[in-house]
Amino acid sequence: MQKVMDIDSGVTRAAVAHEGRARRLSVLGATGSVGTSTLDLVARHGEAFEIEVLTAQTNAGALADLALKHHARLAVIGDERAYPELKSRLVGSGIEVAAGPAALIEAASRPVDCVMAAIVGAAGLRPTFAAARAARRVALANKECLVSAGAVFMSAIKDAGCELLPVDSEHSAVHQSIGGHDPKFIERIVLTASGGPFRTATDAEIAAATPEQAARHPNFSMGRKITVDSATLMNKCLELIEAYHLFPVAADQLAVVVHPQQIVHGFVEFTDGSVIAQMGTPDMRTPIASSLAWPARMAAPAARLDLVRLGALTFEAPDEKRFPALGLARRTFELGGTAGAVLNAANEVAVEAFLARQIPFPAIAALAAEALEEAARRGRVDEPACLDDVIAADEEGRALARGLLRRYS
Ligand code: NDP
Repeated sequence: MQKVMDIDSGVTRAAVAHEGRARRLSVLGATGSVGTSTLDLVARHGEAFEIEVLTAQTNAGALADLALKHHARLAVIGDERAYPELKSRLVGSGIEVAAGPAALIEAASRPVDCVMAAIVGAAGLRPTFAAARAARRVALANKECLVSAGAVFMSAIKDAGCELLPVDSEHSAVHQSIGGHDPKFIERIVLTASGGPFRTATDAEIAAATPEQAARHPNFSMGRKITVDSATLMNKCLELIEAYHLFPVAADQLAVVVHPQQIVHGFVEFTDGSVIAQMGTPDMRTPIASSLAWPARMAAPAARLDLVRLGALTFEAPDEKRFPALGLARRTFELGGTAGAVLNAANEVAVEAFLARQIPFPAIAALAAEALEEAARRGRVDEPACLDDVIAADEEGRALARGLLRRYS
């Protein structure tokens, strides 16, 4: 797998200075879990931010409310059928309104200080690439830019001279732990995993898991798709692939440790035996605040960590037998090229099918693995030259997965 290792233009560059003026911020995926947490922080810091663009896909009512509350300049809804509702809600407000996939990309291309890229799924690829070309900083929540398009995305970031800050709590933890250290002293990067709702479940319980059970993340309240990914541990597999592209280490320097309390979000082991970790109570507003304010800090309302009250933190090895999705990261690194795009797309199809009760829980990882192997057998995981190649691989992964659905149902 090819990766871009220019840390100067990657996440370790702490460049955006505080100019003493409000920072212009666009939030892509404003109505989602990350989007609303971002806007919650913005609301607490009144004068510090000006909202340029807010986007959503179908939720016109919530988008209109957010646009009015935050005095956005532009509100964009991806699904054109929701345009009349958005328009009527914002008429007379002075807020520009637009709809459709092209409008989303155009909105993401507005030059701003920072774009929060929080659209879920492969739908976030084109808008986030557009943001990378136009914004000074991209705060990246969307996983697909790195999982599916890693090397291509990092090249786009580098070419644009954009600063990339990870939003995901684990990558934010690693980014903060690396701090100003020279990456050549990194021995290993470890991401922590809650273990999900089925951490202590038996094989039989996992086989019978329902969407309702999978939706109960032990620590975080997140969107539906990522919550199911946390239950299968596919989320940790995707995070390993993200970490590979974000940080200047080889695949075998990345590891996962299960840590049910999710207080330690990630840590970095250095060549002298020092281990630097980032800790905090599980609240996405902390890593989001870090991505917005870095290298400064902004106040965020997460419950304060009381280690004495907590008493103990526990760690255990992940069980790849019960959670085979985790091992797919290794296979993806071996295959390289667009394997990440195929895996991610197949997983999206499988998660949707699980939520629609078409396939059982263990079939999610099995189906994604089979789609990945089939793509490799067909020689369809070549190194991508551009985003279009990634999107073609994504479509291939989806088609392969859909073709397998009946067999797994
Ligand atoms: P949500 O499902 O809560 O929100 C997704 C957002 O994207 C909504 O604003 C939604 O609009 C919009 N959206 C959905 N589909 C499309 C589409 N086809 N085109 C354009 N916009 C679309 O997701 P999360 O906030 O949980 O996650 C966002 C991203 O961040 C994901 O990639 C996730 O993996 C990642 N992430 C999330 C974390 C979390 O704690 N939630 C943690 C780390 C990473 P609408 O409301 O109209 O549907």
